Amino acid sequence: MGVDPSMAEVPVPEPGMGEVRIAMRACGICGSDLHIIEGDTRTAHLPMTMGHEPSGVVDALGAGVGSLSSGQRVVVNGLIPCGTCWQCANGRRNRCEQLCILGLGRDGAHADYFTVPAENVIPLPDEIDFALGAIITDAIATPMHAIRSSGVQKGQTAAIFGLGGLGIHAAMILQQLYQVEVVGIDVDDAALANGQRIGLSSIIDARSAQVARRVRDETGGGVDVAFEFVGSSAVVEQGLRCLRPGGACIVAGVHSNRLQLGLRQETLVARELTIRGSLGYTNDDISDLLRLVSTGQLVFDDTVSHTFDLDDYQVGLDTLRQQDSAAIRVVITAAA
Ligand SMILES: [Zn+2]
Ligand SMILES: [Zn+2]
Repeated sequence: MGVDPSMAEVPVPEPGMGEVRIAMRACGICGSDLHIIEGDTRTAHLPMTMGHEPSGVVDALGAGVGSLSSGQRVVVNGLIPCGTCWQCANGRRNRCEQLCILGLGRDGAHADYFTVPAENVIPLPDEIDFALGAIITDAIATPMHAIRSSGVQKGQTAAIFGLGGLGIHAAMILQQLYQVEVVGIDVDDAALANGQRIGLSSIIDARSAQVARRVRDETGGGVDVAFEFVGSSAVVEQGLRCLRPGGACIVAGVHSNRLQLGLRQETLVARELTIRGSLGYTNDDISDLLRLVSTGQLVFDDTVSHTFDLDDYQVGLDTLRQQDSAAIRVVITAAA
């Protein structure tokens, strides 16, 4: 059962030990926020303030925070690890066994103020505006992490399934940073047009094509890496089928359905295929992106497609819901 979001006055939160309070300047609305509203993802409690893709200004420091200063421009990693489990102790904080997501496990950033652990706060270079800074933390960091997990090398080929907010950014990173030839696949006209706009080497409308065969034909036998940003078992299978021997299918699309693959086990073995999940991002993914963008090595023009004031939150949600609106990233902003 879904929930109906509404605007409400809530107390300004106080930062706890090791936490900071941030005055929000921009925060993306993500597809996963729609999953919460539709009831597919359950929050830790209700009511809950959503929002896990924020930038802002440090407003107040909790006890024990010495690394940040009031007024500093920052972005926030919305994946909050426990800090003590085996994964955290071994530096894989995105794999934390008790991971808490801002705006899902605790109140998030679709508000004037929110609090987070200081360890999740990363300085935002002056060259990057708040809206782009915000989407770097999630919509761009998620594909960055998936790309790094894939082991893709410069000059290889890739297929991207799903040219929405994650897939388009994945394509831009692969093109600009890895000189990878990208085949983009989607079923939505606006998404396919986005692929055209960023100059993908090949674009396939999955409604009218035998996708895997076409990818193999157009790339001389298959791609080195396929990225699944859709969240569909059938698409994961297509991803595996379009790989060349030795290739890897990286699955970042989330769905609770069972993964059912029609391909023979012997095919996986004979072609030495890899299937691998990729979850979220780390502080390193975000700070590396900030550095690459601030130095001009990575350019994301126009991928913040819509911005709305916090007061127009519902309009922002509706914009993201309309599949044909070509919304790459919808961002909520708050004035200083
Ligand atoms: Zn998200
Ligand atoms: Zn942990």
